[in-house]
Amino acid sequence: MSSTEQELIVYLQDHDANCPTCGYHLNHLTSARCPECGSELILGVGVGMPILGPWALIAACFCWTGGLGCILIAVIWQFGMVRLGTDLVAQRFFQGAVFYFIATIPLSIITLIIRRRFIAIAAARQWRSALAVLFLTLLNLGVFGWVIVFKR
Ligand SMILES: [Zn+2]
Repeated sequence: MSSTEQELIVYLQDHDANCPTCGYHLNHLTSARCPECGSELILGVGVGMPILGPWALIAACFCWTGGLGCILIAVIWQFGMVRLGTDLVAQRFFQGAVFYFIATIPLSIITLIIRRRFIAIAAARQWRSALAVLFLTLLNLGVFGWVIVFKR
């Protein structure tokens, strides 16, 4: 019997656990196999709840602005780039915001794909990235709304 098998048996002598496969109560085992279903058992290390907040915040921001980007692509496709008023500076800001919304379409997909890799980086860096994305989201939504409401 291997030492890891031995450790499992010793561990189960004073800890309660059930077989992950069939739920059988594993107490006083003599080998690293479930006596009920025959599954091989191992003693392992698990992770508590991973931090998902920063990733979820980024995903929510990008999905929201990406959705807006999709609508804007349809509008621009139909009517061309919308001209609002005569304020050239406001128009540049507006185009910047529209570009940002469209750019977040692929970014939202990338964010969904790289979840595992993202939650593996240090929590402080995750939060800094999330706050930067939140800032960009609010800034661009603010500019977009400001031009639509006040500069038409
Ligand atoms: Zn079992």
